[in-house]
Amino acid sequence: MTVLVKPKVLGDIAVHDFHMLIDGKWVAAEAGETLERVAPGHGVVVSRYPAAKKADAERAIAAARRAFEDGPWPRMAASERSHVLLKAADLIAARADELAYLDCIESGKPISQAKAELGGAADIWRYAAALARDLHGESYNTLGDGTLGVVLREAIGVVSIITPWNFPFLIVSQKLPFALAAGCTTVVKPSELTSGSTLLLGEILEAAGVPAGVVNIITGTGPDVGAIMTTHADVDMVSFTGSTGVGKLTMANAAQTLKKVSLELGGKNPQIVFPDANLDEFIDAAVFGAYFNAGECCNAGSRLIVHRDIADEVVSRVAALSAKVKVGDPLDPQTQVGAIITPQHLEKIVGYVSAAAGNGATVFHGGSSLDLGLGQFMSPTILSAVKPDMAVAREEVFGPVLSVLSFETTDEAIRIANSIDYGLSAGVWSRDFDTCMTIGRKVRAGTVWMNTFMDGTPELPFGGYRQSGLGRELGRHAVEDYTETKTLNMHIGQRTG
Ligand code: NAD
Repeated sequence: MTVLVKPKVLGDIAVHDFHMLIDGKWVAAEAGETLERVAPGHGVVVSRYPAAKKADAERAIAAARRAFEDGPWPRMAASERSHVLLKAADLIAARADELAYLDCIESGKPISQAKAELGGAADIWRYAAALARDLHGESYNTLGDGTLGVVLREAIGVVSIITPWNFPFLIVSQKLPFALAAGCTTVVKPSELTSGSTLLLGEILEAAGVPAGVVNIITGTGPDVGAIMTTHADVDMVSFTGSTGVGKLTMANAAQTLKKVSLELGGKNPQIVFPDANLDEFIDAAVFGAYFNAGECCNAGSRLIVHRDIADEVVSRVAALSAKVKVGDPLDPQTQVGAIITPQHLEKIVGYVSAAAGNGATVFHGGSSLDLGLGQFMSPTILSAVKPDMAVAREEVFGPVLSVLSFETTDEAIRIANSIDYGLSAGVWSRDFDTCMTIGRKVRAGTVWMNTFMDGTPELPFGGYRQSGLGRELGRHAVEDYTETKTLNMHIGQRTG
């Protein structure tokens, strides 16, 4: 059983007709083509963006290069950049409802969740503003009387920022304010499915006082514009969030001119639960971890690794709570699980479930798409008796599908957790400190939550081990990521050696 919230017919809804931002001007694509976005929860066109091509991307890169070489942004005092970022944060907060509406309607995520993400995003801009003022190098007066060493932190230059569709505003906010804090200039490409809120951010940054050419925002597909953004010689760094496959391509492209790359990629995250855990809290976190953002989340807790003694109880209780999750209209404030991003993606999710069932897994709850009259939806799904070698246990399904595996010993749990290519995040549930710390130390993941799941704040670095990525975002070193290190080795007085 699933609690359904039928989507409202939007009727003759006003379509947002966007332009993109190049060198301080709002422009159409040079070729005049556009991309249309059909709302995944309502089945009608809600946005139109310019379909940028190579020539548009080249203009944006040239504008960012000019702004870096000759413009005021990299040259101003960090305190001035910090003030601009703080103003941007205030404007984001002031326009949070508009931004959240765009993210909700274009991505299909629930409106309540989109609003919460906007609050988090504004806070990240404030954090970056604070870090901007603390960016500094080091000095060494301990190298002998005749030598002084000074280590500078310089903005790395032009940064290409490429983002996915699942958290459109939040993810650009994990990159752009830190690049700006360092004094970089940027070309930003949001996903072609959810570009609206990033374009609105362009308006906000202009109003906050970011000079022309510092932030260029272009809309288009990966092959059309992403490719040039990752190969062009005038780009110094690529900051990419998306799938592991495109991440590898990005790295190979960037290698042509040895650009720095930062990659935030996929995940297949385990939640390991022991018999002594607080099961009430765990069941809640298991359901949240699996279905948050309809499971279209790099951090989804999509693999439950449950101790054999409590496996039956856990599966029944997770299923009972799953049945209460409200699925449907993303615009309804009651909705907890919204729409699936595209019909093709829904097909892929259903395919994973059927393949798992065909290979011996049990569809314990849900398991199929939901026809709500409009848009595309998937029922919260629990697969039990999943074996570690099944595709559904190893690959990113990116839908509301929870795979339940079981273990007997702590070593076995760790082995299963570490047996896949990803290493983004993990959770462990136990009242025993040693158990939590053993899992925390031995599971190869960028974040391990203990007796909680998916909490985060801008102070804590985030990123993946192995094929979940390269580098870390957030945390106190986040601005340094967008810098080069320069050594000044100075001689004082008469040279003797
Ligand atoms: P995707 O890799 O298909 O696309 C991501 C971005 O890359 C989009 O803007 C897309 O247009 C662009 N792109 C596509 N082809 C390109 C190319 N050839 N060159 C350059 N750019 C190209 O990913 P998606 O489907 O938008 O997002 C889902 C994926 O993102 C999942 O794998 C998810 O785990 C991952 N993700 C990771 C994190 C993280 O922080 N680790 C956060 C969110 C999403």
